[in-house]
Amino acid sequence: MRQISSEEVYAALPIGECIDVVEAVMIAVSRGEANLPLRWLMPIGAGNAMGLMPGGLADPPVHGIKIVSLYPDNPRRGLSSHQGVILLFDSRDGRPIAAVDGASVTAQRTAAASAAATRALARKDARVLAILGSGEQADHHLPAHLAVRPFDEVRVWTRTLAHGESFVARHATPGVALRLVASVEEAVRGADVVVTATASPTAILKGAWLEPGQHVNLVGASLASAREIDDQGVARGRYFVDTLAGAKTQAGEFIDALKAGAIGEAHILGEIGQVYDRTIPGRTGDSDITIYKSLGVAAQDLATAHEIFLRVQHAPR
Ligand code: NDP
Repeated sequence: MRQISSEEVYAALPIGECIDVVEAVMIAVSRGEANLPLRWLMPIGAGNAMGLMPGGLADPPVHGIKIVSLYPDNPRRGLSSHQGVILLFDSRDGRPIAAVDGASVTAQRTAAASAAATRALARKDARVLAILGSGEQADHHLPAHLAVRPFDEVRVWTRTLAHGESFVARHATPGVALRLVASVEEAVRGADVVVTATASPTAILKGAWLEPGQHVNLVGASLASAREIDDQGVARGRYFVDTLAGAKTQAGEFIDALKAGAIGEAHILGEIGQVYDRTIPGRTGDSDITIYKSLGVAAQDLATAHEIFLRVQHAPR
């Protein structure tokens, strides 16, 4: 069985190519070509948890599981908050074929999933990107978004000033005016695309600040108990999800807005793979507000890990 490190993950699959891999697997998911049991979470104590995300794909024929330790305070130790491993099996004979670093694949595939949604749903002339958060996900969402639209202005808002300053310093990019802003409202007003990539359990993004034509990727809240956008924000957007089953049980802002009566069950317009597959319309005009809710799907981990496996298996160690 091949062990694949984070360095190999990043070297083998550049973000631009990871976007295509993730888009393709989300089409397969929406066509029913993936087996995706709901993920399982076990509290470990002190706010930490272990997550198990099993799944299987028809093409490529692989199945496996991501086992991930969720340690929200890890960045203070200089570590990713998502420590883990993806165990990949060949579904033709059941052999384990690879153990792939889970932190790097999670970071890459999540940013790739958002960027694919931006490619499909954002206005073609989108130039201004707002990123809420400055952690590992924000780090990967910036280059992923630069791969799908020629953003020339990027605003970053984050809770801790020093983290925002460090983000701006490490992401200096020629041709991109990258600046730290003092409030979420300042980041969002006038932006074309908004990415929420924080660990906030409560809504930091208000629907009142959204403007016609914007596209929003909701990334940071992946539990039913968390949300980053308020009810009005959910209600104002054409709302797409990674999987219907996951969103109905685990998308905190959807569940809360439904309970509050701000939206109905039919507010979820469909899965993002159906938009990629053109079986449902995504953006219908320049004034739509579109929203992609990312919870994270084991199929994304498996497809990304398998593509990396194919690329590294003959490479020298
Ligand atoms: P990091 O720990 O690296 O970064 C966390 C970010 O959240 C920081 O920018 C931090 O701001 C901000 N933050 C934390 N608490 C709050 C709060 N109460 N209010 C506002 N901002 C806050 O985490 P990651 O970047 O790895 O992950 C970010 C989120 O994305 C997590 O919730 C994670 O579970 C989720 N995630 C979602 C995935 C998906 O598939 N949808 C996949 C992987 C992760 P600062 O540092 O400035 O204080």
